Amino acid sequence: MAKKDKNQFSWANDRPIFVIQKHDASSLHYDFRLEADGVLKSWVVPKGPSTDPSEKRLALPTEDHPLDYADFEGVIPEEHYGAGTVLIWDRGSYRNLKADQNGSHADQSVTQQIADGHVTVWLKGEKLKGGYALTRTDLGEEEERWLLVKMDDDEADARLNPTSTETDSVASGRSIDDIHDGAGDKQ
Ligand code: MN
Repeated sequence: MAKKDKNQFSWANDRPIFVIQKHDASSLHYDFRLEADGVLKSWVVPKGPSTDPSEKRLALPTEDHPLDYADFEGVIPEEHYGAGTVLIWDRGSYRNLKADQNGSHADQSVTQQIADGHVTVWLKGEKLKGGYALTRTDLGEEEERWLLVKMDDDEADARLNPTSTETDSVASGRSIDDIHDGAGDKQ
């Protein structure tokens, strides 16, 4: 279990955190990550999230990432895994919708929900808000396939298309091209 530093992730009002990194690698995709058990549980979402409850977005589980990775934006060099450009597309905190009223969720932790194949969370991001469900599909395939779907709540809006209209980083305001070209790098 990673140590929790109170001053880390000042951009989130609360813990746990979530982050969605737009990743221009061999193919453009979005990495959807939820803090659980001291790591970032992660899915690759090729088309990114939708705000329309009728849109089911494929989500492929990928390896856990360290919590610190939530703050990574930049270029992964050619010879490295995930080579390409990473942009922090959205971030914030989330609420486990299966937690009880005291906020305790020993029986329905996100980790347990992942094992059970159905995760429901309420996102408090800059772009995305409201309930999202991640559901494992049982197609008997070799690799797990999940679907990321907006829940039908007050934050659902079929007219929005944030992956098309809100393309830039919430951390730096930069575009993928800006980051690729090193514009505004702190180094
Ligand atoms: Mn990726």
